[in-house]
Amino acid sequence: MAAAPSASCIFCQIARSTSTTLLHRDDKVVAFQDINPSAFRHYLVVPIEHIPTVKDLHRSSEDFSLVSHMLDVGQSLLHRDAPHAKHYRYGFHQPPFNSVNHLHLHCFALPFIPRWRAMKYMSLGPFGGFIEVDKLLERIKPLSSL
Ligand SMILES: [Zn+2]
Ligand SMILES: [Zn+2]
Repeated sequence: MAAAPSASCIFCQIARSTSTTLLHRDDKVVAFQDINPSAFRHYLVVPIEHIPTVKDLHRSSEDFSLVSHMLDVGQSLLHRDAPHAKHYRYGFHQPPFNSVNHLHLHCFALPFIPRWRAMKYMSLGPFGGFIEVDKLLERIKPLSSL
């Protein structure tokens, strides 16, 4: 399913680097700050395995538990670092709107700063755009667990 780690993939490099300041690392995912933050707190959670985009996720317990785990990590980091935020958002860009071809969960403690940055994270309905994590989890939830 997943391609081999690519030397040119920036997120594969971060996941394997020992020098990057990570907020979290376990055997499945790493988390770090977005280099160009769009909100009061803006973290990215990425799988260590090179999975290009949400289109490469399938309805399976493996993918469902990976994304659930990414969300758990993002939530606990934001609740730790931004406990007073009024709103949190979690989601993914769908191709062709994704910036890096390595799956990454955007985690926001809002407000967006500056406010127009919210535009980058809007759902465009049938055209794709940004997908909230619960919508994606619904899409890949294994049928046997319904
Ligand atoms: Zn990668
Ligand atoms: Zn992105």
